[in-house]
Amino acid sequence: MFSPCSRHVFFSTQLRRLQSTLVVAEHNNEALSAATQNTLSAAKKIGGEVSVLVAGTKCGPAAEAIAKANGVSKVLVAESEVFKGFTAETLTPLILATQNQFKFTHILAPATAFGKAILPRVAAKLDVSPITDIIGVKDANTFIRTIYAGNAVLTLEAKDAIKVITVRSTAFPPEPLEGGSAAVDKAPAGDYKSDLVQFVSQELAKSDRPELTSAKNIISGGRGLKSGDNFKLLYDLADKLNAAVGASRAAVDAGFVANDLQIGQTGKIVAPDLYIAVGISGAIQHLAGMKDSKTIVAINKDPEAPIFQVSDYGLVADLFKAVPELTGKL
Ligand SMILES: Cc1cc2nc3c(=O)[nH]c(=O)nc-3n(C[C@H](O)[C@H](O)[C@H](O)COP(=O)(O)OP(=O)(O)OC[C@H]3O[C@@H](n4cnc5c(N)ncnc54)[C@H](O)[C@@H]3O)c2cc1C
Repeated sequence: MFSPCSRHVFFSTQLRRLQSTLVVAEHNNEALSAATQNTLSAAKKIGGEVSVLVAGTKCGPAAEAIAKANGVSKVLVAESEVFKGFTAETLTPLILATQNQFKFTHILAPATAFGKAILPRVAAKLDVSPITDIIGVKDANTFIRTIYAGNAVLTLEAKDAIKVITVRSTAFPPEPLEGGSAAVDKAPAGDYKSDLVQFVSQELAKSDRPELTSAKNIISGGRGLKSGDNFKLLYDLADKLNAAVGASRAAVDAGFVANDLQIGQTGKIVAPDLYIAVGISGAIQHLAGMKDSKTIVAINKDPEAPIFQVSDYGLVADLFKAVPELTGKL
């Protein structure tokens, strides 16, 4: 009946239809994290139907927000006190129950502390290999990720029936929360309480500055700053540029700043429009976290510092002179 060509079209359409992705939303009940919007964009790139799971205590506003995103067909909501603190121990059985009911081919979450805690557990329970921190989607089975602290790029073809994936948010544009009107349903009910953990409390660092992972401009300081007090130089400059302030691990380890400011392989991955590295040598572990920034500026007194190899603009100067001068001119 079918010509070879029409049979191919028939099969590929059917495959696309059978493919379905679940995005596990990161949110604070009120609002979605920006990383969820980036993850949604990766899910759309995979193709097929996209559903989103929103689990929390009173997470109606977050669910309503994601239901407005174009390309989301269904939002599954699970509201319970057991999800307080968004612990992996309570969310994992919920995701497994949801998977059991809907048989998704892909399960995605952002490669943030949230997603990194949950999805490896989900993968282990489903007996599949987790695919972590992807930076690209070639097709529904083929993904791109970095290895060796970002020094090599790997394309992998996943053979598991269910692909469990964390997504590097800086590698995908944020999906706008408009243009759609997905159905909002209840996620499968169940007893998701865990005897292993109990959420006690959470202390969040409060800042009026932009959040590091979504900031358009970042000023980052390293060991060259010499003390925590000297970071004031960077905060003054950041105020002028509406920038977030980050740091190298050496600056964090020396106690100059808190570790949530750390950028790099074992810190946060950022890709702002402008990254100004001040008194940072440019070790590969630091570059792994910032080298995708659009414009990199380095201020360092050592002309041989490796940071100059990745920077678009380099200033060989004493930071204690150059930074106040720069701030004064802005
Ligand atoms: C497994 C592993 C994971 C790691 N993860 C990370 C990570 O996530 N993030 C990270 O940053 N590092 C990480 N590191 C550490 C990394 O290897 C480097 O040690 C660290 O990045 C160095 O930080 P730094 O550039 O601030 O310090 P240094 O390497 O000491 O550089 C300081 C720079 O300041 C310059 N300087 C000094 N005084 C002045 C001045 N007055 N004016 C201008 N410039 C000046 C110096 O010329 C020098 O280039 C990791 C290491 C390992 C082994």
